[in-house]
Amino acid sequence: MQFKQVVGQSHLKQKMTSMAASGRIPHAQLVLGESGAGNLPLALAFAGYLLCKSPNAEDSCGVCDSCRKMQSFTHPDLHFSFPFPSTLGDVCIDLYPQWRKALQADAYLNYESWMRQLSSENKQGNIPIDECHAIIRTLSMKAYESRYKILLLWLPEYLGKEGNVLLKFLEEPPPDTLFLLVCSHPDKLLSTIVSRTQLIRVPPIDEQDLALHLTAQMGLPAEEAARFAMMSGGDLLKANELVSNTDSPYLEPFRQWMLYCYKKNLHQSSKWAEEISGKGREYIKGLLLYGIEIMRAVAVMEHLGERNGLNPNEKEFVMKLGKLMTTKKITGIFEVLDAAIYEVERNGNLKMIFTDMSFKISKTF
Ligand SMILES: [Zn+2]
Repeated sequence: MQFKQVVGQSHLKQKMTSMAASGRIPHAQLVLGESGAGNLPLALAFAGYLLCKSPNAEDSCGVCDSCRKMQSFTHPDLHFSFPFPSTLGDVCIDLYPQWRKALQADAYLNYESWMRQLSSENKQGNIPIDECHAIIRTLSMKAYESRYKILLLWLPEYLGKEGNVLLKFLEEPPPDTLFLLVCSHPDKLLSTIVSRTQLIRVPPIDEQDLALHLTAQMGLPAEEAARFAMMSGGDLLKANELVSNTDSPYLEPFRQWMLYCYKKNLHQSSKWAEEISGKGREYIKGLLLYGIEIMRAVAVMEHLGERNGLNPNEKEFVMKLGKLMTTKKITGIFEVLDAAIYEVERNGNLKMIFTDMSFKISKTF
């Protein structure tokens, strides 16, 4: 991965290259932003730049021995950690082949698409304690061929409390060791980890840069590309979704549920809950997160205007909901969904969680 393969973000690319030139690189950095803004590709390009044998002022050379290994994500001094379901192994290295394949297919990777590629949509991924110990073991060894050894830890928000065993390491890593933590949900991250890192905030992609990319990649006419770039709010993954006009798989079930709640049809909503509970915990979490996104969209629709990142069916749904809701009601439903995620993660009974939510949401309407 090179910087030139990352869409937009020239300001951050510059920040990273000058950091490398100065030789003063913080040993633990938190690259924070949406997947569609490019937090992972940026971290990969930064790692590639640091490992490149003859980088220029703007980018890695792309042809040296190190860069060639980076293209297949097989550089021996770049280690990866990422969430995965416990059924597939104990440590990340077991899944390196799938991981490399996923990155080569598209480094704009998000959690859902990674789990889909592992055929584990309905399982919960996490970064287990065995992996934390493997990180410590790996980084305690000398670098193979480069000045630095780098750990790219993707989605540290999936570290449980076990992540605390890494703290001492984050604070005082072995010489020439760099941590790049690539995170999308800082609120879910252990605060002990946040406080030990330097923050690199990745903003949405500049709309003009994104539009140019959409034109170059998909051959969209400039005007149309500009519209999609704007609607996506500078998020490449959302823009791709909008261009291909695919509805989220959660839209229909969520719309159905809200309708039952609105009509106070507890019988139907209980039948619905029965059915949906069979789809597994990860699916439910996805559905609730989607519901939260929708509520957020209802709340800010007026403010955002066309820049809403919604495709036509979602927009119609959000507008309809908006007509039924006051800010207080929106906040009420938002809080119900948010609290339920906590319950779902803690293995609460799904059917009971839904019955409780349906009751509360009906009452809120
Ligand atoms: Zn190179």
